[in-house]
Amino acid sequence: MQIVIFGAPGVGKGTQAKILSSRLNIRHISTGDILRESIKNKTELGRKAKEIVDQGNLVPDDLMGGLIKEVLMEEESQHGYILDGFPRTLNQATILDKILEELDHETPHYISLEAEDSVIVERLSQRRMCSVCNSIVNLKNLENTSVCPFCKSENSFIKREDDDAEVIQNRLNVFHNTTSPVIEHYKRKNKVIVLDGTLPVNIVTDKILDVLDIKL
Ligand code: AMP
Repeated sequence: MQIVIFGAPGVGKGTQAKILSSRLNIRHISTGDILRESIKNKTELGRKAKEIVDQGNLVPDDLMGGLIKEVLMEEESQHGYILDGFPRTLNQATILDKILEELDHETPHYISLEAEDSVIVERLSQRRMCSVCNSIVNLKNLENTSVCPFCKSENSFIKREDDDAEVIQNRLNVFHNTTSPVIEHYKRKNKVIVLDGTLPVNIVTDKILDVLDIKL
């Protein structure tokens, strides 16, 4: 199964992608995680992307298109995947459609998680990322523990550079101006499953599985 999950930063798409990847046994492809790893490891891509990502802007389409093509061509991607963070521009949507055709992959299911900006801003200011497994947690749910609930690492939580208040506003602007038209483009083709991203995590997962008609 192929899934593309859309949503504003902080709406919970990464969290849902991780859960669905594990429950459906399909690959989780997060372009944000790939870029952050490249930045951490100071690869050529990381050096090109660092400043752009830190400021909440978009890495150029040609770099992202090349990256996603490589990842989708890998053996690990041939048995299904959930794409989280790509496509983010209309040009990237065209690139993705072309790659899927070339690789003879099925048309994905498109899911859009939606929430008001005020909810997003509140969530992003409260969130931390485990620097070991990249899982996202909300400070409110940590209950004074410094142990990652996913990989059990201790004291591994960091605040993402792009979760700074000013950068959050820029990322939301980028989302509304550049990525929303991509979702609208797929909606016009009646292809998008729209869900309320403010519901509890397990309810959102259940709703996604329900609309995809998956019984686990
Ligand atoms: P995310 O973890 O999906 O919120 O992505 C973090 C950051 O990585 C974004 O704010 C962008 O700077 C960059 N990024 C991730 N995916 C893409 C993409 N498809 N195109 C351009 N930039 C991206």
